[in-house]
Amino acid sequence: MTAADNAIRIGAARRIVLKIGSALLIDDASGALRRDWLRAFAEDVARLRTDGREVAIVSSGAIAFGRRQLGLSGKALALEEKQAAAAVGQIHLAHAWQEALAAHGLTLAQILLSLADTEERRRHLNARETLGALFEFGAVPLINENDTVATEEIRFGDNDRLAARVAQMAGADLLVLLSDIDGLYDRDPRLHADAAHIAEVPALTDEIRTMAGKPRPGYSSGGMVTKLEAARIAVGAGCAMIISDGRAEHPIRRLEAGERHTRFAPAASPGTARKRWIAGALGSDARIAVDAGAANALRRGKSLLPAGVTGVEGNFLRGDAVRIVGPDGAEIAIGLIAYDAEAARRIAGRQSREIEALLGYKGRDVLVHRDDMVERE
Ligand code: GLU
Repeated sequence: MTAADNAIRIGAARRIVLKIGSALLIDDASGALRRDWLRAFAEDVARLRTDGREVAIVSSGAIAFGRRQLGLSGKALALEEKQAAAAVGQIHLAHAWQEALAAHGLTLAQILLSLADTEERRRHLNARETLGALFEFGAVPLINENDTVATEEIRFGDNDRLAARVAQMAGADLLVLLSDIDGLYDRDPRLHADAAHIAEVPALTDEIRTMAGKPRPGYSSGGMVTKLEAARIAVGAGCAMIISDGRAEHPIRRLEAGERHTRFAPAASPGTARKRWIAGALGSDARIAVDAGAANALRRGKSLLPAGVTGVEGNFLRGDAVRIVGPDGAEIAIGLIAYDAEAARRIAGRQSREIEALLGYKGRDVLVHRDDMVERE
C-alpha cells in the first residue's frame, strides 16, 4: 500500500474517533505530561477540523495523573485507590487537553461514560444525541470512562473498547487507536524477532484472533486482545479501525504520510450497519399507526412527526424499535422511537410545537427520525 492510499483513506473519513493511550501523554520515567507531544497533537486535531472533519478524542491518563498528584507512583493500587486517583487525575487530564485545543480556538467538551451508558439502549441513545449535538456545535468531545464510580464488574477497564463503543455510538467512519505499538503482528513481536507486521485486515477471522495471543497476566488493558475486541465492535458498526504507534509527535500527520499501521476494514458503511441493526430489532409488538399523508412522507424518506400519528399500540420505552403501519394496516417501516409509549400517546396527532406544553419538557420534534428508520420493502 502506498502513502497516497493512506492519505486518501484518512481523508475520506468524515467523523473520526482518536484514542490516546496514557503512554503518549505521560512520560514513563517522570510521570509528567508530555507537553510538546500534546501541543503537536492539538495541531493535528485542528487541521482535521479545518478540513471539515468531526473529531472526538478518547483519552486515557486519569489514573496515571492522579497517582502522581497523590504521591502513589510505582505502588500497586486497590480498586478504590485507583478510583480516587482517577477522580483527581481526570481534572488534570481535561485541563491539559482544554489548554492544548484552546490554542487553536477549539472548544472541548468532557464526557465520562460508564459501561451501562453504552450497553443499555436508552442510555446509549441519550449519549448518542449529546455527542451529535456537540458535533453540531463544532465542539471536540473528550471522553474517558467514569472510573470513579464503576466497580470492577461494570467497568470497561480499557479505553480501546470504550473508544470502539464511542465510535459506534457516534456513527464514526474511522477509529484510530494510538498506542505504543504500530499494529498487529502474526506473533508477539516482543517475543519473536521475526514476527511479521500485518498492514491490512479485511476480515476478523479466527486466524487473526490467534495472532493477538493470550492477555499477559496482570495486564488486563491495552494489549492486542482488547484491541481486536475493539476492532470487532468498530468494524461491525461500519467503522474502519487503525492501530498505530502514536508516541512520536504528529501521529496523524505521520499516518497520512504513510507511517506503518494496521487497518481493519469496515464490514459495512456506518449507515448500513445501523439500519441493519434496526431492521434486526424485531420481537416488539409496538405499533404506530399513521395517516395517509404521513405514510407518503415516510416513503419519501422523511421523519415521522407526531402530527401524522393516528394510533399508538403496545408498551415501549424511548429507543425501542416500533413498527409503523399505514391506514391500510400494512407495515411501512420499522424505527427507533424517540418517546416512551405514554408520551407518544399524549403527543399523537399533535403539532411538534405543542410537545413541550403537553409533556412538560421539550423533547425531539420527531417521533421517529429518518436516520433511525428502515423502510419495509
Ligand atoms: N480510564 C483509564 C484512565 O484514564 C485508562 C484505561 C486505559 O488506559 O485503557 O486512567
